[in-house]
Amino acid sequence: EIAFYENKFVDINEKVVPIQERGHQFGDGIYEVVRVYNGQPFLLEEHLERFQKSADAIELVLPFPKEKITAIIDEGITRSEMKEADVYFQLTRGIAPRQHNYPECPAVFSMTVRKARPISNREKGISVITLEDERWLNCYIKSLNLLPNIIAKQKALKNGHGEAILVREGIVTEGSSSNVFAVKDGKLYTHPATKRILHGITRAKVMQLAKELRIPLVEKEFTTDFLKNADEAFITSTSAEVMPIHTIDDTVLPVDRPISSMLVEEFVKLYHHHAMK
Ligand code: PLP
Repeated sequence: EIAFYENKFVDINEKVVPIQERGHQFGDGIYEVVRVYNGQPFLLEEHLERFQKSADAIELVLPFPKEKITAIIDEGITRSEMKEADVYFQLTRGIAPRQHNYPECPAVFSMTVRKARPISNREKGISVITLEDERWLNCYIKSLNLLPNIIAKQKALKNGHGEAILVREGIVTEGSSSNVFAVKDGKLYTHPATKRILHGITRAKVMQLAKELRIPLVEKEFTTDFLKNADEAFITSTSAEVMPIHTIDDTVLPVDRPISSMLVEEFVKLYHHHAMK
């Protein structure tokens, strides 16, 4: 396991974060998670682009050019000697005496490279529970403030589910750490990329694959009832990839999932192909 803080590689267990770090005290920062397949970061450009968007949204200035972030990530992966890994990186507003308004200080970049979490059984899929979406209204920012997300995930896992599906005013927004898709009558549905959801990199890739496969795509809000009456449903994320849902609360979905299976297969092909380069 590899770690980087501010300007150097450090031991992952070293105590390096000052007590007045704004990430530590306020969650005042943003992050990304990138999957490494066969020693290569997957869709890094897309992640860096979203990182920049999140930074801009909260007036955070990158302390160095994006090319340096790529170099740090590449060096981290090399040092880790891992082929299958998750790269986590974040940017906080920096180190300054505690005050709510933005202080004048350089932002702090940090990163870890850790072993990739194994993904659940894709054949079987996961069960999910629906919970009220209690987050703020700027969910497109990949902010460090994940308290509502981790509370929801904890409830889901404690009750034996794989994910919590968040619902705001009857509308399914996304998972606690994933985006949500439904299939009905041969069409693929997902919440539009508004401020209510994180614009998932995996979501975008799956939408692109659907277009290539000529699966009609509907980016439109849908209700919990619609999801439960779907022919198929799945979540997407960097860590879970494309993961079918077999049960929503007490509703069991059909076992046959032709469209999900096709998208799983194409997504796996995509990163295999990428990793071969
Ligand atoms: N939505 C939320 C709230 C997330 O935390 C994540 C990622 O962990 C996603 C969606 C999926 O995004 P991506 O596919 O970019 O990993």
